[in-house]
Amino acid sequence: MRLLLIFRTFVSMIQEYQLRVQPHIAANEQSLRCHLAEEKGFDVRTITAVRILKRSIDARQRTIFVNLKVRVYINEQPTDDEYVKTEYRDVSDCPQVIVVGAGPGGLFAALRLIEQGFRPVVIERGKDVHERKKDLARIRQEQRVDPESNYCFGEGGAGAYSDGKLYTRSKKRGSVEKILNVFCQHGASTAILADAHPHIGTDRLPRVIENMRNTIIRCGGEVHFQTKMTSLILDRNQVVGCLAGGKEFKGPVILATGHSARDVYRYLAEARIELEAKGIAVGVRLEHPSVLIDQIQYHSKQGRGKYLPAAEYSFVTQVSGRGVYSFCMCPGGFVIPAATDDEQIVVNGMSPSNRGGQWSNSGMVVEIRPEDVEGDDALRVMRYQEQIEHDCWLQGNRRQTAPAQRMTDFVNGRLSYDLPRSSYAPGLISSPLHFWLPKFVASRLQDGFKTFGRQAHGFLTNEAVMIAAETRTSAPVRILRDAETLMHVQVAGLFPCGEGAGYAGGIVSAGIDGERCADMCAEFFRNMPKV
Ligand SMILES: Cc1cc2nc3c(=O)[nH]c(=O)nc-3n(C[C@H](O)[C@H](O)[C@H](O)COP(=O)(O)OP(=O)(O)OC[C@H]3O[C@@H](n4cnc5c(N)ncnc54)[C@H](O)[C@@H]3O)c2cc1C
Repeated sequence: MRLLLIFRTFVSMIQEYQLRVQPHIAANEQSLRCHLAEEKGFDVRTITAVRILKRSIDARQRTIFVNLKVRVYINEQPTDDEYVKTEYRDVSDCPQVIVVGAGPGGLFAALRLIEQGFRPVVIERGKDVHERKKDLARIRQEQRVDPESNYCFGEGGAGAYSDGKLYTRSKKRGSVEKILNVFCQHGASTAILADAHPHIGTDRLPRVIENMRNTIIRCGGEVHFQTKMTSLILDRNQVVGCLAGGKEFKGPVILATGHSARDVYRYLAEARIELEAKGIAVGVRLEHPSVLIDQIQYHSKQGRGKYLPAAEYSFVTQVSGRGVYSFCMCPGGFVIPAATDDEQIVVNGMSPSNRGGQWSNSGMVVEIRPEDVEGDDALRVMRYQEQIEHDCWLQGNRRQTAPAQRMTDFVNGRLSYDLPRSSYAPGLISSPLHFWLPKFVASRLQDGFKTFGRQAHGFLTNEAVMIAAETRTSAPVRILRDAETLMHVQVAGLFPCGEGAGYAGGIVSAGIDGERCADMCAEFFRNMPKV
């Protein structure tokens, strides 16, 4: 042992280890060094650095463990970058492609176009990510929603003021890692490369988004804010540009306008560009005190303690042939007003990077299939969404004050006598959601909550409040595209992209789809007959 220790004092090496440690050991590098020294027989003074490669929390049992994969540097300094850097070159003199929408789909499409040697021209109806903040404050303070600048519209898209959760069900590991690395290159913490459930946080996202915009501009691309696309320019059966802010922009179009641009869906339907109705999920935001969620998930009256993050949860069940599930959970976050117009209420959630808020919320939603909605046209699910959002506004006294009900009262079909304190800044009004939400949704939520209450003791409680309505879980319309070329099935030069087109759900998957559309658009451009 003594010999081994002497040997290890002089040798230099880099080793990787899998560790299963208690949260206080995983909490900082110094305690990890001590743990490694003891467990692996190193002299602690020789450990020059410990880099965490993978991190996940195992909270299945009463004793909580943190699983880590670490790279340990012995008598060596780390020389490699913590993330893979993408080279972005000058594309000022290259052919241009129009990208409509500066959400994750559009921004990643634009950056990928630069890699491919094309000049992206980004057109965004909303304001830049900082100016946008003032309009968000106005929703809270004056109950007014600017239809061009709100929680869904503006630079960064719907994901800019969010929890910035970056986990996805996508199985394409390489594509996911590329997106995370690009975020790191633009200022996100490299912790997102290690965490099993990475998130950036609403306080940090705007700077990352601004840096992405600066890369686009520095490489010779353009970004136009407060410039709304109103129509496409067609030459026979090919899109050759678009009209936006009263100006013509020439080039193939990557259309990444998100799930809330109802005017875009209406325009496409009128222009007879093929669409189909798509399923969504509808329900409420459910908010618990975060202390309570910590106690339930970490199996301890003490809650999360000093070393664990705010606890997450995920529930799913089937009720009468439809999925009922939690969606987009925001531990230690806020419920926010995500409407894109007056006369509607839509709620969603966001969290700061430390997830340190007093409440934890998630969408609690019921799956809606196109056949569940009356009619047969492509916009019927969208109209169903609109109707619920408008009903909410009427129930909320024609303001952004959201109708709400305590959770157990809802399950028992009782109006709440009063409501608990909540993070929803425009305010709540007690309302019998069990009575006026569509029965299809309300009855399934009631049964779903009973199941979740049995699965997690204490979860079904009147300390939790349901806030209506969560309707923008995904796009209600699909803009039909060819599976291989990603081009619209009927119109050449048009690349429906991201969540709004019906091919992504979430920041990372929209980013991946943006990159794929950029690749296919580059291919289309290269194969275009030259005149
Ligand atoms: C409050 C909130 C929290 C969320 N939290 C998370 C989360 O934590 N993790 C996660 O993965 N996902 C989250 N989501 C979902 C995520 O934001 C979306 O899946 C993602 O942003 C979709 O990207 P996108 O680029 O396809 O569309 P969007 O982000 O919706 O971007 C579309 C952009 O197009 C612009 N646009 C629309 N119409 C026009 C037009 N006619 N002309 C010009 N520009 C136009 C819009 O202004 C917008 O900026 C959240 C969403 C919201 C609203």
